[in-house]
Amino acid sequence: MRSLCVYCGSNSGSKPIYTERAIALGTRLAKDGITLVYGGGNVGLMGVVADSVLAAGGEVVGVIPEQLVNWEVAHKGLTRLEIVGSMHERKARMFDLSDGFVALPGGFGTLDEMFEMLTWRQLGIGDKPCAFFDVDGFYSPLMGMLDRMVAERFLHPDQRDDLWHGDDMDAMLAWMHAYKPAQADKWMDEKRRGAMR
Ligand code: AMP
Repeated sequence: MRSLCVYCGSNSGSKPIYTERAIALGTRLAKDGITLVYGGGNVGLMGVVADSVLAAGGEVVGVIPEQLVNWEVAHKGLTRLEIVGSMHERKARMFDLSDGFVALPGGFGTLDEMFEMLTWRQLGIGDKPCAFFDVDGFYSPLMGMLDRMVAERFLHPDQRDDLWHGDDMDAMLAWMHAYKPAQADKWMDEKRRGAMR
């Protein structure tokens, strides 16, 4: 694993622990020689992760749409900043550049990006590991929502289990290094399954 994409808040959140854990993750990536790929911003937890990788001597590639550069939220001190035409292009480029995806706490943008990666993987487009790196139980309610999706047969249990959730960085990185994608199906009702036989 040579590069990891980190999705996270363009805000810093309400508690110092969000920033502390973002710094810990960035520092660890640099120490392990893993390049950070991220959204290229200098704001919120995004800026914190990027700065902590750089401060520890690591490499950071930012991928940012032109519109956000015009808003002057692009980080100016990265190893490389790639400017793309749209949010769609950014997602595709970040996917190409990364060997796995980690979500730190964040808002709509963070979830949108992470769930798109999970969706691509479900459709067989991507086969890269996806991890929710939790801080102070932030992602526990979301995991509850995923369990509800399984219980209500909107999400296959194999797909539900094909992601990592927790707050132990060593365990997360070990899981990502050893990752083999599940060969999971989507739910299929009996009628559709019968039609396919
Ligand atoms: P959010 O979780 O809603 O704060 O959005 C964060 C995610 O959306 C990041 O992973 C970025 O890829 C993208 N994003 C949102 N706001 C910005 C910004 N001001 N600068 C760069 N990227 C952003």
